[in-house]
Amino acid sequence: RFISFEGGEGSGKSTQIKILAERLAGVKLHTLVTREPGGSPGAEIIRHLVLSGMGKLLGPEAETLLFAAARDDHARTVIEPALKQGTWVLSDRFSDSTRVYQGTLGKVAPGLLNAMQRVTIGDLKPDLTVILDVPVEIGLKRAAARRGNAAADRFESEDITFHQKLRDAYRQIAKDEPQRCVLIDASEEPAKVAANVWSALRDRFFA
Ligand code: C5P
Repeated sequence: RFISFEGGEGSGKSTQIKILAERLAGVKLHTLVTREPGGSPGAEIIRHLVLSGMGKLLGPEAETLLFAAARDDHARTVIEPALKQGTWVLSDRFSDSTRVYQGTLGKVAPGLLNAMQRVTIGDLKPDLTVILDVPVEIGLKRAAARRGNAAADRFESEDITFHQKLRDAYRQIAKDEPQRCVLIDASEEPAKVAANVWSALRDRFFA
């Protein structure tokens, strides 16, 4: 099974993935945790490039091509081989991030996004996408607390409008694709959120 986690800053993706991975391992299921951009040695190099200051030299289309190259490598070398072996793959972000960040926010044309998707991952789709939904103010507060004095990557910002658009775009995806996506209130405490994530999995995979 392939499960992706999506959400904005401070939505708690990595915490939830960690809890779910432990839970799946507890019921003796092989689990692989991975992330985007990155997830394979080659894609991690691209991650470094786009998240660092160097990425600012690129326009949105060129940047989209790099994200696509990273995903192509990640899918071919990590995700698909794991799925073939029956491993459960939990990915921190996948193609919905491209639709939201490069599409809705970056204004890259849907035609280019669709073409990129076709030549990279083709029909590969998560069996379930967990969208962690949190009000913008809460998410930003959490992200700032976590960051402390560490430098933000170049996409992290305090721009409320940006984060509101991000949240709306994810909520829209959840609405458009209810079979694949589940929208989970991530403003609750982690254990409560984890219980809701688990119950979504149970309904879909263990019912
Ligand atoms: O989830 P994480 O914080 O590791 O994501 C790294 C950064 O990459 C985020 O700040 C996010 O805004 C950005 N990103 C992006 N486009 C994607 C995926 C991630 O701009 N397709």
